[in-house]
Formats: sequence, C-alpha cells, structure tokens
Amino acid sequence: ASQLVLILGDQLWHANPALRALNPATDTALMIEAPGESTHVWSSKPRTAVFLSAMRHFAAELRAAATPLIYTMLADWPETPGLIDRLGRHIDTLKPGRLVLTEPGDFRLRTGIEQLCRARKLPVVFLADTHFMCSLADFADWAAGYKQLRMEFFYRMMRKRHGVLMDEAGERDSKGELQPLGGQWNYDAENREGFPKTGPGAITPPATFAPDAITQQVFADIERVLPDHPGELGHFIWPVTREQALEALAQFIEHRLPRFGPTQDAMWTDTPFAWHALLSSSLNLHLLDPREVIEAAEAAHHAGRVDLASAEGFIRQILGWREFIRGVYWLKMPGLAQANHYGHSRKLPAWYWTGKTNMACMRAAVGQTLKYGYAHHIQRLMVTGQFGILAEIEPQQVCDWYLAVYVDAIDWVELPNTAGMALYADGGSFVSKPYVASGQYIKRMSNYCEGCAYKPDVKAGPRACPVSTLYWHFLHKHEAVLARNPRTALMAKSIGRLDKDARQAIVDEAQRMLSDLDAL
Ligand code: FAD
Ligand code: SF4
Repeated sequence: ASQLVLILGDQLWHANPALRALNPATDTALMIEAPGESTHVWSSKPRTAVFLSAMRHFAAELRAAATPLIYTMLADWPETPGLIDRLGRHIDTLKPGRLVLTEPGDFRLRTGIEQLCRARKLPVVFLADTHFMCSLADFADWAAGYKQLRMEFFYRMMRKRHGVLMDEAGERDSKGELQPLGGQWNYDAENREGFPKTGPGAITPPATFAPDAITQQVFADIERVLPDHPGELGHFIWPVTREQALEALAQFIEHRLPRFGPTQDAMWTDTPFAWHALLSSSLNLHLLDPREVIEAAEAAHHAGRVDLASAEGFIRQILGWREFIRGVYWLKMPGLAQANHYGHSRKLPAWYWTGKTNMACMRAAVGQTLKYGYAHHIQRLMVTGQFGILAEIEPQQVCDWYLAVYVDAIDWVELPNTAGMALYADGGSFVSKPYVASGQYIKRMSNYCEGCAYKPDVKAGPRACPVSTLYWHFLHKHEAVLARNPRTALMAKSIGRLDKDARQAIVDEAQRMLSDLDAL
C-alpha cells in the first residue's frame, strides 16, 4: 500500500529519514501550513514567517528533485485551521496504507497524530530523528544512571562519545581514556565578562538575508490570515534555506566566533545580537546539522583562528545544552508542561506583548524580541525569564509567551529552558538552583540601568527597581529552603542580614508592585 510521508515544518532536511523512506513511484510527501499552529499560542509574525518561508523554500527543492508532494498553504481551507484536522482531511482523500514521519519535536503534535491515526485505523510509523546526536533511547539510558540530571556530565559523555575537543595526542587517564583538550572540560569562568564601560565597540554584524519573493508572499499571507498577531515583519533577517544557513554559519565562524566567548552574557542597548551565532532557528528547522556546526567551530580552533575558551563555550551550547534539553523534554513530558513548583498564578503583564514598560531592561529585551524574534540567552534567562519567577507569574503563561515570540521556538527546546531553567517550575529536576539575581546583576552585565526610571540599588520607594525589590522579596519568602542548598546559601545569608523593618519595607513595596505588574 502507498505511504503518506508527512514532513513537519521543523524537519526541512533532505536526509530526513521519512523522506528517505519515500518511494516516488507509489508514495506522496505532504507538507501542511496550518493557522492553528500559530494560534494555539499567539505566535509572533516573525516566528510564523520563518517557519512558513523555510517550508516553502524546502518544498520548492523537493519539487525540483521530482519528489511527489502535496502542499497545503496557510490560506487554504479556512474552515479547517488545525494541523491535525488538515492532516485528517488529506488522509480521508488520499486513503494511504500508512503514515510515515520523523518523530515530531512537540508532544502535543505527536499525541494528536497518534490519536488521529487510531481513530482512522491507519498505521503510523515515527522514525527516529537522526538530526540529533543523542537518540532518545540513548539519553534515557544515560539518565537512568543518575539521581540528578546535570548537563555537565552529559556534555562530558558526549565529548568523549563523539571525540569532540579531545586531546588526541595527550596522555590518557588511569582508565585509558582521552583527556579534554587544554586539560579542562569547561571554560565558562572565562566567558562571563560585561562589555567595557564605553560600550561593546565595533561588532562585525551577523549575516542577514533580505526577504525574497517567496518570503514576501509569506508576509502577505500572514497579514491576511493572522493580521492581529504580535511582532513586526519589517526587519526580517533570517536564513530560510540550507544555502543561506551555511552562509550564516561560515560568516559566524570566520568573523564572530573569535569574539563570542568572553562577552556572551553581556547586554547593551541597541545591540540585539552582540557576538552571538543566530544559528538556533537554522538548527531547529534542521537546515543545519549540529555535527557540521561543531566541526566548523572545532576546525577554526585547530586552525588557530579561535581560542579554546570561545570554541569550547560555543560547542558546549550545541553538543551539551541543546541535546541535553531535548532529552530532558521527552523524559519529563507531559508533566513538565503543567509544572508549577511555587504555585505561582499571576497573569503575564501586558507589556510582554508591547515592550511598553518603565523598566529599561525589559523594554530592551521585549523590544528586540518583537522586532526580530530574537533575544540572546542571558536576556531570555536573566531578564524576561527571571522576572517571571520573581513576579510570581503562572509558568504556563510565561512558557506560552516564549513559544510564541522566538523564531527558534519549538516545544522541545522552549519548554525545558523556560519551565525548567528560567522558572524552576519543576522544582529543579535538572538545574541545581533557581536562576534569580537582583537588578545589580543586570547593571553589571549591561548598560540598561543607566536609561531606566528605576535604580538597581534601591529596594523601596518610587525609584525602587522592581527586579531588585522582587528578588529580595523572593529571598525573604524562600529563605529557609535557599539556606539548605549550598548553591544558594549565600543568598539566604544576605537576606538574613536585614532587620525586621528593612524586610517589612521590601515586603510592602513588593506587594504594591505585584498588585499591578502592568504599571511597572
Ligand atoms: P548562541 O548563544 O550563539 O548559542 C549557540 C547555539 O547553541 C544556539 O544556536 C542554540 O542552538 C544552542 N543553544 C544554546 N543554549 C541552548 C539551550 N539552553 N538550549 C538549547 N539550545 C541551546 N533556544 C532555542 O533554540 N529555542 C527556544 O525556544 C529557546 N527558548 C529559550 C527560553 C529560555 C527562557 C532560555 C533561557 C533559553 C532558551 N533557548 C532557546 C536557548 C538559547 O537562549 C537560544 O538557543 C539562543 O539564544 C539562540 O541564539 P543564538 O543562535 O545566537 O545562540
Ligand atoms: Fe532593569 Fe532595575 Fe536596571 Fe531598571 S534599574 S534596567 S528595572 S535592573
């Protein structure tokens, strides 16, 4: 019987195992654009545009290779907006013998497809996603050996298994194993500098890609079908083909990676990209293979163009964090989507969708997010992310925002980063402490505080910095638990030094802020 081969919007590579399983004589590939994928969270226009444009470019490549393909456009079938419903209609018309696809990156989609096929009595085959360097089975095996999951141990295992940045010529340890290049696994301590007081200086800009005719048509379709969605389309810069993604990679390795390491946590106004890679959307769409990205960085180091700290810091993100996060997602779902360790229930402030707030740090991070669909890691973790935990916002609302606004957002990578890392919503199942810091941290890592209505060292009164006040309020509330964890004991000590009156002033100020987050 014929196979229907479903290619999802983040599976755009020719070695896709489902495409490999396609027999052009009998089978059909199917790609579906669905408004429902942009409305289940209020997806930003840049995010939807990246996905749809990359899908249409990939479809053109498939057609050029004479692959039989059926393609449903965003504006088709307005009465059937959902992806699963659209798939159901195709199944009813085509009556395939079975459905074949590479495992999706979204638990909700996987479940939806399973349910649909069960209802249609249609066999379905999920093929392992070979884009990733650690299969889900291998991750589960690795995780079974640990009481607590820690990225660092996973990363070391991956370095050894894949022979990345290992000292081939050096001495072996007592077990006969290779040692890490430079004698150290991790150079993170060298990678935490702010920019100088005078600013970041001249930064070689990232490769950007002006919208072509296909992307322009995507914009028009988005304006027609999803006109009231957030975000802007006037600053579109993203790679939407493999060719462009390779160009972006080469440009990053050559011109930006050498400066990536030391200031990767730094933030500055009107500096949305700093020295970052801007490769996450290309990787997540599978336009780039993680192995080739890692090889390029490693080769640049061996050629003497990139120091070890920068090369290692970058490679750790991809070989370590990215693969670890994916493993954690499939291990912890579906529970992770509901996790709410602190029982937080406040509403997401409206300014997350507009950037209109008096807090300069949030204004900068949210502003560039709506403009480009991009913010870098520390902006996501320590600005918009930690505000979610300090302001006691319901984790699901924060997660929905992250999934909606970033061009690289797919559930498998967004959810563990947001719920697990930024919000500690699962009580720290794979991180050792909640990531919280006062406005002083933001002041140290950026120039945001200089242009702000608030002052980072003020905890109460009209100039009190909400990040600082809510941080001290968090310490006050959770003092006992923080004191028991060696990683947070210092935080507990610092609140312990405050007398009763100082604490009360913080609590009063925090209550005032929490009662009207929209006004901050
Ligand atoms: P660089 O900083 O230059 O890093 C290089 C690459 O490493 C990235 O392209 C990315 O592929 C990978 N990487 C780095 N950190 C992580 C991480 N923690 N998890 C997975 N991959 C990582 N990343 C996404 O791809 N999609 C998301 O939806 C997403 N949501 C996030 C939400 C929060 C709250 C936080 C704290 C982080 C999130 N991240 C997400 C991780 C990280 O912030 C982005 O991958 C990174 O900012 C992308 O920009 P870049 O390509 O310039 O990255
Ligand atoms: Fe952000 Fe506080 Fe600094 Fe203002 S003073 S930019 S709110 S950290």
